[in-house]
This record gives sequence, structure tokens and C-alpha cells, in this order.
Amino acid sequence: MKRILIGLAFAATTAGCAISTQQEVQMGTEYAQQINAQLPIVKDPEVVRYINVLGDSIAKLADARNLDWQFFVVNAPEVNAFAVPGGFVYVNRGLIDRAQKMDQLAGVLGHEIGHVVLRHSVKQMEQMQGANVGVTLACVLTSVCNNQATAAAINLGGNALFAKFSRDDEAQADQEGVKNTVRAGIDPRGIPEMFQILLDERQRSPSTVSSWFATHPLEEDRIQATQAQIARIDPAILRGLTKDSQSFQSFKQRVRGLPAAPVSTRASQ
Ligand code: ZN
Repeated sequence: MKRILIGLAFAATTAGCAISTQQEVQMGTEYAQQINAQLPIVKDPEVVRYINVLGDSIAKLADARNLDWQFFVVNAPEVNAFAVPGGFVYVNRGLIDRAQKMDQLAGVLGHEIGHVVLRHSVKQMEQMQGANVGVTLACVLTSVCNNQATAAAINLGGNALFAKFSRDDEAQADQEGVKNTVRAGIDPRGIPEMFQILLDERQRSPSTVSSWFATHPLEEDRIQATQAQIARIDPAILRGLTKDSQSFQSFKQRVRGLPAAPVSTRASQ
């Protein structure tokens, strides 16, 4: 997949190389608007409410910058999740279908929140920045490129610009995921469990999880690393953490009952 990059005149406000939180939020808001116009976002009020309540409960404690977090369910059967700088997190219904318990979905959210809090995408953009060019952004952030290109870019795992996290970034986001869920009173063992569910599914039917694996290089060592981190947590603390809830199961049922997105919108998936 070709990524079309253009320079955007952020230069006026970025004398140095650092992208401020304000710029990150501005950029993320524009990008999220593009994504929301392109992807079949679920509007069902109960689904929207639950994913935001759960997401906020994790993000508010993870994020010292007090971002205005927003969580979205994408009406797509493929397993995927991604985050946009500034605090926008997307989860496909295909992933929600695979999660058997609340802590497994919470672990995915904790991981994506970790990418935002650690500013992995923002750091990549800062590195992309030339000395005098200002910030170079992918065309998906602007309306300059044609829609086809935008759709194709988003298509690639949902986050063309932000798709390629290093293994280090992924490992860090996993660590954050463990910390973030524990802080929110949720059992972190959902994280390695979810990884295992996805690995098992890769064996059985690789195509349904291919977009996830394209952006989340997931090997057994990530399961072991999170398990090792969790093993260092006081068992008394672990015992007190929440694994599942009735409201998660109702949410899951509600998502399962949603009609599939119309083919026209799913074509851009
Ligand atoms: Zn990740």
C-alpha cells in the first residue's frame, strides 16, 4: 500500500520539532472526522455509551493530560482496533465478538490508550519532520487527497499513518495496557487471554484476523511478556480486580444484534 504524504503548513506554529498537545488534539480531531466520515461507525446509543464508559474509566486514570477521550465501535466484522492521537480510539465489532469477558476488551482499550498516552504516533511524526518543512502529515488528515486514496489508506488496518509501530512501541503499549487496566480496577489477565484468542483464530481462519496482525505484530513472546509483568503484581490485588460484568455481556449482545453495515460503506473497509 502506497502512502501519499503531503506537507501541511503546521510550520507557522512549530518553530521547533515538538508537537504540542494542542496540535496533537487538533490533528487527531481532523483525522477522526475523516475516519468517521469513511467508516461505518455504530450510532446505537447503548453501544456508544458503554464503550465510552468503559474506555473513560481506563483512560482518565492513564492520562495526565486530561484529553477529551472518545471511543467508537466500527461496524466491521474484521478483528481490529486502533487509536488516533489526541484520544480517539476505535474498536471493530469483530473484536468485540471475540472478547468473551469485559477484561479482554478492556485490555485492548488499555493497549490503544497506551499508544496515545505514550505518543507513539506523535513521536513518529516529529521524526518525519524536516528542519524547515513543518510537520509532514499523511493525506488522510486533510481533504486535499481524493476520497479513494483516503479510503484506501484507512483500509489498511484502519490507521495508515499510524500503522507501523515498532515492536518496542507494541511492547510498551502492552505494559501500559496492564498498568492501565489494573489502575481502573480491571483484571489485566484479559490482555494475554485476548492475544491467545486471536492467535488461536489465526490458526483456524487467518483472513478474519489479518488486519489485526498487519498492525499488531503479535507473537507468543508478547503473551509471555504480559504474563511475566502480571506475575509481579501482588496476588491479593489481582484477586480484587474485575474480570467481567453484566453490562459488558449486555453490550456484547447488543453489538451482536446490530445489522451489518451496508455493503457500500463496507467496501471501504
Ligand atoms: Zn498496538
